[in-house]
This record gives sequence, structure tokens and C-alpha cells, in this order.
Amino acid sequence: MGLLLKRGNPEWTVTIVEKGAAFKRRVGESTSEVGGCYLTRVLRLSKHLSQEHIVKHGLRLWFQKEGNDCLSHCGEIGPFFQARLPTYQLDRATLDQYVLDTAEVEGCEVVRPARPTEISLGGEGKNRVVVKTAAGEEKVYQSKWVIDATGKAAVIGRQRGTLKPLTDHLTKSLWARFRGVKDLDGAELAMKHPEFAASCSVSRSSATNHLTGRGWWCWLIPLKNGDVSAGVTYDPRYFQLERRGNLSETLLAHLREHPIGKWMFEEAEVIPKDTLTYTQLAYENLEVAGDGWACVGDAAGFMDPLYSHGIDFIGHTVMTAQAFVAKALRGEDVRDDWQNYQSGYAESYRRWFEALYEDKYAYLGDADLMRAAFLLDIGAYFIGPVDFVYRNTELEFARMPYHGPIGGVIAKLMRFYNRRLVRLADLRQSVGLYGANNLDNRYLLKPGFSPGAAALKPFAKGLWAWWKCELQGVRHRFLPRQKGGVGASATGATELSSTL
Ligand SMILES: Cc1cc2nc3c(=O)[nH]c(=O)nc-3n(C[C@H](O)[C@H](O)[C@H](O)COP(=O)(O)OP(=O)(O)OC[C@H]3O[C@@H](n4cnc5c(N)ncnc54)[C@H](O)[C@@H]3O)c2cc1C
Repeated sequence: MGLLLKRGNPEWTVTIVEKGAAFKRRVGESTSEVGGCYLTRVLRLSKHLSQEHIVKHGLRLWFQKEGNDCLSHCGEIGPFFQARLPTYQLDRATLDQYVLDTAEVEGCEVVRPARPTEISLGGEGKNRVVVKTAAGEEKVYQSKWVIDATGKAAVIGRQRGTLKPLTDHLTKSLWARFRGVKDLDGAELAMKHPEFAASCSVSRSSATNHLTGRGWWCWLIPLKNGDVSAGVTYDPRYFQLERRGNLSETLLAHLREHPIGKWMFEEAEVIPKDTLTYTQLAYENLEVAGDGWACVGDAAGFMDPLYSHGIDFIGHTVMTAQAFVAKALRGEDVRDDWQNYQSGYAESYRRWFEALYEDKYAYLGDADLMRAAFLLDIGAYFIGPVDFVYRNTELEFARMPYHGPIGGVIAKLMRFYNRRLVRLADLRQSVGLYGANNLDNRYLLKPGFSPGAAALKPFAKGLWAWWKCELQGVRHRFLPRQKGGVGASATGATELSSTL
């Protein structure tokens, strides 16, 4: 945000305080199309992205069923051709360093490594921030506006006591980076399974690959230097992760339980000191702006990493806050603007969560239900947000997704089908048919998603896929219930005892 403010108004003084002496790798490595638009059209980073990162080719889901040991039988959902809009697999340490360097070159003052020891929010023009550098030097700033972009550290939210875990969404995550991961597009696999290799035109390994099961999914993200970022995210209501050795060993063992992971990670080694876990991913900041201050990115809240929307959030929150801070610094009254950000953010957060993520982990491991969700969720994303940000970048980023009455109707429709898919998953689970079609089904989308009206076709296919599941559900209602019923896992995971 500092970079954008300075770029538009070189005469203003912008100070960026960063606590780390150097950036470590961090999650937020896969971009969606809206995130890609923010990086390329707003921050103008295309050249850096194509030189230092990997061009991503879509999201690819892999399904499994107990007893199957062969990767080529795993159900697959993903694109057949290359992606049409720029998206990337990012090395966040490299990207964040580049953005900070660019901000400095363009005139921002960067104070690093340093952190604020006191933030007194006294209203616009009356804020006092005391910053202490690692060398022990203290600097005092009387700043017109203070922007909290400290991510999960959310210094303002914690100071004000406004951070709240999202108790409707108890997902946890464990991740690491690996070297020596085998190539899904390589000769070894192509020779072993030529029909698998020939079945798809686009590179599978440059996709964000997700391994799925009931209550969990794992991301596999390739990084530019050949390492692979991999992590598991799970909802403990449906799945418990068995502790096997230390955290890295636990993750590796879990990855290897899926035939795709078993093959890819057969010889993989974890990169030391790069394993992390969060026991409560989703949280909300109940106050994201006030007189003379605002929170952006993860300092404003976080929901779920399934669809890689972290940079979408950054784009919308940064552009919204940037617009009213710039107005204020030009002398305009922005009370309504930051109040609108505050109320718009809360509304958007709730709608976004209910439309896409609420209870979704119930059906992540069922290929039929996820195929419907994939087409509907991503179709809706391309019809709306992706199209909007490419048509009118400034305006669209400067308001929150699902805003206004139309946004409300769309969120309700999405919430409705999401809830139905959850119910159908429970029903399938109770009659022992959860994941029944997970094997030997390759659903490769042609020609793929394009923004605007062109995405109506995959969306309509999604409706059809959902209604087919509903029709099957009518039949499932008359089948005898299985022992274990809802809550038991299709992968046998509930038998696992020791958990993280
Ligand atoms: C498991 C998981 C997987 C994810 N996967 C994806 C994905 O694939 N794609 C995606 O788009 N998003 C993903 N996200 C979300 C993404 O990581 C975040 O949305 C994004 O990194 C937030 O960026 P940020 O700049 O707001 O915060 P951060 O990236 O956390 O940056 C905050 C910065 O503030 C600095 N800082 C912190 N405290 C202080 C302090 N007191 N003083 C000074 N500086 C401070 C930090 O050093 C850091 O540089 C994922 C999140 C999780 C948890």
C-alpha cells in the first residue's frame, strides 16, 4: 500500500516498518486470477513475476478411494489447456523482497529490522508511533494515517482487542517445503503410465495440485528453485491428522497416503526449519478502520486457503484503504469512506465465507460433489469478480467482493448450493457411498474458464452436475444407513487416535 500511495503522490512521506531482517518463505504462494490481476495490473510486476516465479496453470484436484494404490486410477478434475489469465506460483520471500525494494527505490522510507513499540491512535493527523530498530535506535513518528499490514500479527487488532477466531470454521493447517519431489510431467511417470501422461495437454506439475479426502486437502505448489511447498488443511470435525513423529514426518506420512503423493514424495526430503502449523486458521478483525488508521491484508482477517484467495483479499483491502487515505491526505473528509470500508468488510467477509467455505470440508473428498462445486464456484468467480477486475481494475478493487444487493443475492445462491452439497455429502456418507465415483474419472475442462459471459457455460455444467447429485440423493435416501454414518471418514481417518 505504501508503494501505491507513493507512486500516485511522490510528494507524500511514506514510512514502511518491517520487523524481519530478511523475508522467510511463507504461505500465499499460489495466486488466483484476481490476485494475478492485482500483481500484474495494479502493482505492475509482470516482468518480475515471469522471471522469478512460475506461471501457474490452474487448480487440479485429485481423488482417492480406500484400497486403490495406483495414481493413474485417481479421479482428476482440472483444466485440459493452459490458463488464459496470468496466475503464478510465487516464492513469497523473493516477491516480498522485490516489492519492498521497489517501494524504497520509488521513495518510501524503509525501516528494517524494526517494530513499533507504541501505536497511539489519536485520530487523523494525531497518531503517534514509536518504532524501535533491531540496533536499539528509537524513532518517533507523528503520522496522519497508520496502516496495519502486519498479517496475522495484526498489531492494531490485537491492541484494540478486536481479533476474533471464526468459530464456525475450525480448520487447521500444517505445511513445509520439500526437495527431491518427483515430476508429474516427467519421463519416469510418462513411461510407467503413458495413457495418464497423454490424457492432458497442459503441464500438470505447474498447476496448484490438491490431494483431497473427506475433511482435508493438501496443496502441492512448485517453486522456482525446484522445491515444492506442500501442506495439509483439515477440519477436525471430519478428519483428525495422526501424529507420526515430528511435524514434518507427520505431513510427509499423510502426503504418502494418497497415491499421487506417494509417488511424488517417495524420495522427497523436508527442508529443515521450514515447517509450520496453525491450529486455528480463520479469524476476523471486527474493526478494520477508524479515524486515521486502517487494517489491510491478513491484518483485517483470514478465511481459508482452499481457493488461494489471500492475494485477492490483499488487493481489495489495500485498494479500498488506499483510495480513502489518498482522499484524506488531499484534504477531503473521509469519515463515510472508512465507515463504509468497516461495514462493507464485515458484510463481505460473512458472505464470502458462507458462499464458499462453510462446512465445505464435508464434501471435499467426493469427486461428484466437488466437480459440481468446482464448476459452480470457479464459474461464478469468472462471471463476476474476475471479469469485473479486468474490466474496471481501480473501481472493482476499491470495493469488497459480494458488495451491495446483487452481491448479496449471489452470495445467497452460492450459500444455498454449498449447503445442499454438504447435505448430500452427509447422506452419501451415511449410506456408505461417499466417494463412490472417485476412481477412473478424469474430468478435464475444455476449453477452460474465461471471464464474463463465457463462464456461464461451465457454471451451467456445474448446475447440471449438482442436480445429478440431487437426483442420486433421492435414491440414496431409501438405502440402509451404514454403521458409523455421518462423521466416519471415507479414508478411515477417524480411526486415527493421536492428533495434532
Ligand atoms: C496455510 C495457508 C495457506 C495459504 N495459501 C495461500 C495461497 O496459496 N494463495 C494466497 O493468495 N494466499 C494464501 N494464503 C493467505 C496468504 O498467506 C495471506 O493472505 C498473505 O500472506 C497475507 O499477506 P499480508 O501481507 O497481509 O501478511 P504477511 O504476508 O503475513 O506479511 C506481514 C508482514 O508484516 C511483518 N510484521 C509482522 N509483525 C510486525 C511488526 N510487529 N512490526 C513490523 N512488521 C511486522 C511481517 O514480517 C511480514 O513481512 C494462505 C494462508 C495460509 C494460512
